[in-house]
Amino acid sequence: MSELKGSVQAVIIGGGVIGCSVAYHLAKLGWRDVLLLERKQLTSGTTWHAAGLIGQLRATANMTKLARYGAELYAKLEAETGVATGFRRVGSISLALTPERLEELRRGASMARAFGVEVEEISVTDAARLHPLTDMTGVLGAIYLPRDGQADAGNVALSMARGATKAGITIRENLKVTGIITANGRVRGVVTEAGRVTADVVINCAGMWGREVGRMAGVDLPLQACEHFYIVSEASDEIPAELPVLRVTDECAYYKQDAGKIMLGAFEPTAKPWAVDGIPEQFCFDELPADLEHFAPILETATRRMPLLGRLGIRQFFNGPESFTHDNRYMLGEVPEVAGLFVACGFNSVGIQSAGGAGMALAEWIVGGAPPFDLWDVDVRRVFPWQSTRSFIIPRVAETLGLLYADHFPYRQFASSRGVRHSPAHEQLAARGAYFGEVAGWERPHWFLPDDEAARGRRPEAHDTWGRPRWPDYAAAEHMAVRTGVGLLDMSPFGKIRVEGADAEAVLQRVCANDVAVAPGRIVYTQWLNERGGIEADVTITRLTDTAFLVVTGAATLRRDLSWLKRHICDRAHCVAIDVSSGEACLAVMGPKARDFLQALTPDDISNAALPFATQRTIELGMAHARAHRISYVGELGYELFVPTEFARHLLAVVLEAGRPWGLRPAGLLAMDSLRLEKAYRHFGHDIGDEDHVLEAGLGFAVKTDKRRGRFGDFIGREAVVRKREAGLARRLLQFKLADPAQFLFHNEAIVRDGGIVGHLSSGGFGHALGVAVGLGYVPCQQGENLEHMLKSRYEIEVAGRRCEAVATLRPFYDPTGLRLQG
Ligand SMILES: Cc1cc2nc3c(=O)[nH]c(=O)nc-3n(C[C@H](O)[C@H](O)[C@H](O)COP(=O)(O)OP(=O)(O)OC[C@H]3O[C@@H](n4cnc5c(N)ncnc54)[C@H](O)[C@@H]3O)c2cc1C
Repeated sequence: MSELKGSVQAVIIGGGVIGCSVAYHLAKLGWRDVLLLERKQLTSGTTWHAAGLIGQLRATANMTKLARYGAELYAKLEAETGVATGFRRVGSISLALTPERLEELRRGASMARAFGVEVEEISVTDAARLHPLTDMTGVLGAIYLPRDGQADAGNVALSMARGATKAGITIRENLKVTGIITANGRVRGVVTEAGRVTADVVINCAGMWGREVGRMAGVDLPLQACEHFYIVSEASDEIPAELPVLRVTDECAYYKQDAGKIMLGAFEPTAKPWAVDGIPEQFCFDELPADLEHFAPILETATRRMPLLGRLGIRQFFNGPESFTHDNRYMLGEVPEVAGLFVACGFNSVGIQSAGGAGMALAEWIVGGAPPFDLWDVDVRRVFPWQSTRSFIIPRVAETLGLLYADHFPYRQFASSRGVRHSPAHEQLAARGAYFGEVAGWERPHWFLPDDEAARGRRPEAHDTWGRPRWPDYAAAEHMAVRTGVGLLDMSPFGKIRVEGADAEAVLQRVCANDVAVAPGRIVYTQWLNERGGIEADVTITRLTDTAFLVVTGAATLRRDLSWLKRHICDRAHCVAIDVSSGEACLAVMGPKARDFLQALTPDDISNAALPFATQRTIELGMAHARAHRISYVGELGYELFVPTEFARHLLAVVLEAGRPWGLRPAGLLAMDSLRLEKAYRHFGHDIGDEDHVLEAGLGFAVKTDKRRGRFGDFIGREAVVRKREAGLARRLLQFKLADPAQFLFHNEAIVRDGGIVGHLSSGGFGHALGVAVGLGYVPCQQGENLEHMLKSRYEIEVAGRRCEAVATLRPFYDPTGLRLQG
């Protein structure tokens, strides 16, 4: 065995399919001085026993892009490395046994077309012809993806490992990493059983050990292993040599032909977390004890669905561990706490199909210093340390495994590990009939029961459906209260960052595309751009004093934004950025009557002259002082009232009591979403992200290329903005309105321009004031094409295979000139 090098450019921890893919792709980008360390043998964790299903369609365009990249790669790896991956494009069929599932499959098919994936809705007869072993009783419809495939999971990893070593990367097996060295917020290397290795980059690809490895650097990663099962039948001549993969998600089952046998795998509704007190030290190619009782309900249904399976004996009952995360999405990228420390773990049973794409994306991120495209779905900056507590993660993963095959209704909420973070107004809002949804642990009202029903003691209940759910009627009333009267939204979960110091303005001038060198009391809406002009953050910034600013962002983006900001405060800057989210609650009073209502409650002048749009002032309300920010995400006159957290209950009581004669109505997040959609306000993570150029997103009005150059230079992304202005836009974010008022939109529906699919909706919802569904989505434009020409085209939105007439606009359909905001 060769001597362990004391210093390398990068260390990869873990030799499963993910570590091998990262190594392979780093080598492709020219990084050779890389050491992959595996505690036992390559693939000996989870990879060796995976079923090897390689699907292409994922929930978003970029995740689909990554999955497709993986399939393409596995098809050609053998030619390059000499190690066969066993990849075959056998296709896959998904069956629907309920009308809801059929709608979901059809919506998925429309989405697949929008993402460029080949897909067909096929008849039940065709499904039976393609998969003759299946009893089609109760099947209502089917979707066929001819380019899906299957592969030999272990060999996919070994093939990439061979590719990496051929290019000069070193792989050491039987050498465990026991520590990660950090100093001054940077990774410096690792400690191994054979000594220390210094490195500027360390990549945690330790699969279900990922949480333990993260802790070595003080980083909390919410993942936990669960038992995951399949059985393999005896071989039979009756099994065709070529069979597509079959998914019967309503029966929690998938089937695959495997060397003349049938493999039946399960995603049962309640999974079994495994090794919650730590993974046994000797684990290596281990199997877990069979649990026939747990698997029996799946097997029983499966033998009816595929009678041959019932006749053949079971050759192998397999139970292996796989890591699952709190939200069924893996974790990728550089951790906010430690520069140079990257992760790629928690693959939720799609690690084989995801490995190629995830490895490619992470390698480009490491080498290029930034995510190569929008990876927010899986970005590790979305997770919070508390999510790795056992009390949270263990019950949560017992739920998430089964959710992979559950109905994915819009707004569906997790049932487990709820009630983590509460606004101080929580109890009062619950008493008003709030139905709560969760984001970043916060319980936030989605909608409220009407007062009379709440007073009668009715409890709000979810009503999950693809059709018209019951709650839109409630949300519609809340929406209209904000449009015509006055509504109240609890915005306490906002992320709040205080930026202070003599250089606070100069730091923010470098980070913000808008000009924040404004007088104290002014509020600035701005994006933070990357060097490509893509949007890293979408925030409002209030200048509180000469040297203090308050950045307000979403609850889910707080860690991302804080880490971006901190990384752009250079050593010589006299400036600190601190998360103060817990210190203040925020109640938003919104609507055309908001001013008259609040003015009656406060002795302070809040007239347009005293408190114009985009300013703030402190006002007296009840026994509290509140900072009233005249700003709005719903497109109406309104105020966000910030108070120290302990005053929030009192303030809410004052507002609710005084609001009765005004018809003030508490409104939930679904109303807020429909309100902002009517106004075409962008939502970070849906409509805008780091690959969306700020000009193409239609936010050029908030970009000030001519602002004064600050002490730390021009703002980040300025050059990209100037270049884009010269070169012209390649696409535009348009707003769409459907002609048919009965049709609902959620998001990801295909945009059809003059008969051809050109993109997908990044957001969709119902515009209750407009009376029809509205959506936002990017439409590519030809070189030099002007807006007028684009809008002249005929647009349709494809919903579950049906094409619906739509009208497109650049300016919002609701209040296009923004008069109502000016109040
Ligand atoms: C029954 C079953 C069926 C599945 N079917 C599919 C499927 O059909 N399609 C699909 O895409 N996915 C499937 N999966 C999921 C897939 O197997 C995993 O997502 C994937 O293998 C995860 O790869 P990994 O590299 O993250 O983890 P692993 O393969 O577990 O690799 C992590 C490696 O890190 C090493 N390590 C840990 N700690 C250290 C340390 N301190 N020092 C050095 N090395 C360390 C471990 O020894 C291990 O080898 C299935 C999983 C199971 C259990």
